[in-house]
Amino acid sequence: MIIDMHVHVWDEGYQPNGYKFGMAKNAAFKKLPFRDPKEILPKVMSGASDPSGKLLIDEIDALGIDAVVAMIVDMGLAFNEEQETPIEEVIENHAELIQKYQGKFFAFFGMDPRRKGHLKLFEDAIKNKGFSGLKLYPPCGFTPDDSICFDYYEKCIQLDVPVLFHTANTFPPLDPGLSHPAYLSKVSSLYPDLKVIYGHVGRPFWWKDILQISESNTNAYLELSGWNHVANKDPKKFAIILREMIDTVGPHRILMGSDFSAGPKTIGERNRLPAWLNYLRTLPDMSSQYNVNFTSEEIDLIMGDNAQNILKI
Ligand SMILES: [Zn+2]
Repeated sequence: MIIDMHVHVWDEGYQPNGYKFGMAKNAAFKKLPFRDPKEILPKVMSGASDPSGKLLIDEIDALGIDAVVAMIVDMGLAFNEEQETPIEEVIENHAELIQKYQGKFFAFFGMDPRRKGHLKLFEDAIKNKGFSGLKLYPPCGFTPDDSICFDYYEKCIQLDVPVLFHTANTFPPLDPGLSHPAYLSKVSSLYPDLKVIYGHVGRPFWWKDILQISESNTNAYLELSGWNHVANKDPKKFAIILREMIDTVGPHRILMGSDFSAGPKTIGERNRLPAWLNYLRTLPDMSSQYNVNFTSEEIDLIMGDNAQNILKI
């Protein structure tokens, strides 16, 4: 079974303008000659918008992916502005997709823990709307070990669902330091029964910190989205990193993800997902070139069997 543990469904109004401007700024000043972020702004989300989920499902069907897990991110409070589509509506839209594409489309609830009523909506989403877990995005302005998050953790344990934390870099002016995995060390020691998923496994530089923290926690999982860029650029480098991850936490605790957002400009020939799947699938055959060995059993676990377990499907 192949399960992509980290995708997104967007529409233009699903993110605050401040966040979109941060993405545009990042792109504008990445290399010389610098560009004007204002000119990039209109393009940042339109090319990856697919609120009906149709492009996403057509694409995964064509690629032989059995299921995807969509992550909801709530950034309104961080930018002190409400996005065009209120977060409650975004959650509702995801609930509809869970129904529409049953068994194929799964989603993690996402709402800033500082919002009033988050816990009730979360419980309802899990119990009555088919959601499979919680996604938290600390760069929005809180640390995972802040007591404001604790009611979420207690509820996750009670309902036996995992929480996925963003542990990677981010866009300005959000604070990437807040997603440092060290904050999760305390969370796991306070809540050893909480299933913690390290989203993006600290890409690009914190993956070793995550191994240090998660090694002895049998409820910790590493989710690989974003690493496709590293594998694409330097296949051998990522093979060595992945081997170290497997050797440290075990193949049963690693989950394939892509961060794929379907949209008119990200599907078909522009889609990077096929290359990622192909890279992972062929790892056992590439051992001699990369000087590290992988078994097909390990790859099967990472590509979907572990996710199947976590999602209880
Ligand atoms: Zn993501």
